[in-house]
Amino acid sequence: MQIQKNYSLKNYNTFHIDAYSKYFSAFHSTEDLQNFFQSKKFKNESILILGGGSNILFTKNFDGVVLKNETTGMETINEDEKHVYVKVAAGEGWHRFVMYCVERNLAGIENLSLIPGYVGAAPMQNIGAYGVEIKDVFHSLEALHILKNKIINFTVNDCEFGYRDSAFKKKYKNQFAILNVTFRLNKIPDYNIAYGAIKEELNKMNVDQLSIQAISDAVINIRTSKLPDPKIIGNAGSFFKNPEINSHQLHQLHELHHLNIPVYKLDEDTFKIYAGWLIEQCGPESGTSWKGYRKGNAGCYDKQALVLVNYGNATGKEIYKLSEEIKISVKEKFGIELEREVNII
Ligand SMILES: Cc1cc2nc3c(=O)[nH]c(=O)nc-3n(C[C@H](O)[C@H](O)[C@H](O)COP(=O)(O)OP(=O)(O)OC[C@H]3O[C@@H](n4cnc5c(N)ncnc54)[C@H](O)[C@@H]3O)c2cc1C
Repeated sequence: MQIQKNYSLKNYNTFHIDAYSKYFSAFHSTEDLQNFFQSKKFKNESILILGGGSNILFTKNFDGVVLKNETTGMETINEDEKHVYVKVAAGEGWHRFVMYCVERNLAGIENLSLIPGYVGAAPMQNIGAYGVEIKDVFHSLEALHILKNKIINFTVNDCEFGYRDSAFKKKYKNQFAILNVTFRLNKIPDYNIAYGAIKEELNKMNVDQLSIQAISDAVINIRTSKLPDPKIIGNAGSFFKNPEINSHQLHQLHELHHLNIPVYKLDEDTFKIYAGWLIEQCGPESGTSWKGYRKGNAGCYDKQALVLVNYGNATGKEIYKLSEEIKISVKEKFGIELEREVNII
């Protein structure tokens, strides 16, 4: 592995923040990575495993070694009456894998089409969209324990998946490099079109016969029309998670604000409230909205307030500061604490 010094990460994060890493190297195989850790040459440096950089905000330079995953490969390793098991290298593009499944009529991740990033990062936050999360099709993964340089197998229970969450973001934070993920795809599709936007889009597309391909196409159309393309406008998708509230809190919000508050019912007493909607109701000054707000090159996307954007040369600190102001204003108006989804460095 070739190690570069003082390396610009601008092309390696979708916010296009011009942060530098003290050392940088790409790895193409598990052996590369194991040899790197075996050598102990960088044993005192912090390590950052990087995928597509689409869920990360660099607020400063990285004082350590960035290891960019460039492993590839997808193979069917098992099959039964109902399922096909596909093992995918962590450095494969997530959307490339979704297309691989769509082409082979393997169901389960068509709703997750066009999510940027690599397969290895998908379990980190249990990526999800349009009513589906990867935990629904996850079988197992292999990860390298960085300090012990040992490969460990994780089952679905070991990963402790939650909403945009897993053990890798909590108790195993910075301890493992995920090497590959095995997914259990369905031979018989169980279509999930509960999200209004998908149904609407399928109608617009004049689809009368549901298929994996049609759902994937619908999701791609919706995402392209709503979300900024990181190649054009720097962003990392949803900046905050959708908070959960109970029925008492929801009742109080209705009493206080007399607004029609859009929520998604999780169970009898738990509701997910849309962070984008909360942000839209608040602004830098009273009577204004964050949606479409721009200060210098940092802003809040005009079609979706949940997405913070870099219009040019914003620094990570500027984006972070804007996120902090948004958090404070939502807390002041609604008493709700927003939690960041993006990993802050
Ligand atoms: C336009 C846009 C839309 C998006 N929409 C969605 C969406 O609908 N749903 C959703 O869930 N997310 C969404 N995201 C966020 C993002 O795409 C996902 O979280 C994705 O899984 C991140 O992958 P990545 O390879 O870019 O991760 P990176 O940003 O490179 O890394 C993210 C974190 O994972 C760690 N990491 C990465 N790879 C490994 C590995 N192999 N082993 C150990 N740690 C690792 C990194 O150190 C970092 O902490 C969106 C982002 C953008 C830009």
